Amino acid sequence: MIYDVAIIGGGPAGLAAGLYAARAKLSTIIIEKGADGGQIATTDEVENYPGAMEDATGPKLVARMLEQAKTFGASRVSDEITEVDFSDKIKVLKSAKEEYKARAVIIATGAVPRLIGAPGEKELTGRGVSYCATCDAAFFQDLEVYVMGGGDTAVEEAIYLTKFAKKVTIIHRRDELRAAKSIQEKAFKNEKIEFMWDTVITEIKGDGMLESFVVKNLKTEEEREIFPDEEDGAFGIFVFIGYLPATELFKDIIHMERDYIVTDENMKTNIPGVFAAGDNRVKSLRQVVTATSDGAIAAVQAEKYIEDNF
Ligand code: NAP
Repeated sequence: MIYDVAIIGGGPAGLAAGLYAARAKLSTIIIEKGADGGQIATTDEVENYPGAMEDATGPKLVARMLEQAKTFGASRVSDEITEVDFSDKIKVLKSAKEEYKARAVIIATGAVPRLIGAPGEKELTGRGVSYCATCDAAFFQDLEVYVMGGGDTAVEEAIYLTKFAKKVTIIHRRDELRAAKSIQEKAFKNEKIEFMWDTVITEIKGDGMLESFVVKNLKTEEEREIFPDEEDGAFGIFVFIGYLPATELFKDIIHMERDYIVTDENMKTNIPGVFAAGDNRVKSLRQVVTATSDGAIAAVQAEKYIEDNF
């Protein structure tokens, strides 16, 4: 079968694109390799998406977005695209088990967390080192946790972690936060949150489980090793130092800047019939509201492209 629109990625951008494409009566497939929702699926509070109030968690919002897209006829499959061929008018997306053909493609692959790059980090991921507070906070009930980063995500997730941890220390490489002032204020008021300024994590240690880590003060160059409280015997590190676009698959095929896909305001890439939407493209604000907006625009433009070209 040749679909009208194939969407790679089931985060807010992909799901919104799916909703708009299917509602326009285009045969639409959403291909997602993991859990639906992308980053938002692991976000506890989504209080800045219009209409979403205190009770709107990421998973709830995603479940409703998917349901809505399916209601209009979009199909959703679990599969990982490993190769693309955009050289002909009919685009081909390949996975290990399947080949998907479509008249238009919307790339909504989002972004993945940036790693610290410290020795021990990869080995101890999921063993005391985490990139998702919603997923792992409960493991640190009444323990200490350290959060690396100073942006909106780090500070918001640090606040969330105080619901579980007995103390949260934010480790930031500068002496002022990047996070929005309103978010900063909440953190400064929170008695469970402490700060370690001008500091980075340089090494993470443990034999199968996080046991200690080394921090370096960038101003004094002083290094010291941090251990859990003796009574606790365990602690955690949460890393929120930004995200990297998931665009590897399109290198040398699609025009990019610093690994982000370049589009025009209609979400068009340099290849006719291929659109990009969401956090993987060059843009000024990466939020759910802008991702869904990108998805809607990409779908409407895909519809126009198909009308004009097929
Ligand atoms: P971000 O704004 O890029 O912040 C990344 C943080 O990590 C910065 O504080 C940065 O330090 C630090 N950092 C980066 N690389 C580092 C490294 N190698 N070592 C140590 N520290 C490093 O990322 P984000 O917080 O994930 O936010 C991403 C986007 O989503 C932003 O546009 C943000 O506004 C948005 N967002 C918004 C909300 C909200 O509005 N509620 C919530 C979450 C995210 P420096 O400050 O020194 O650069």
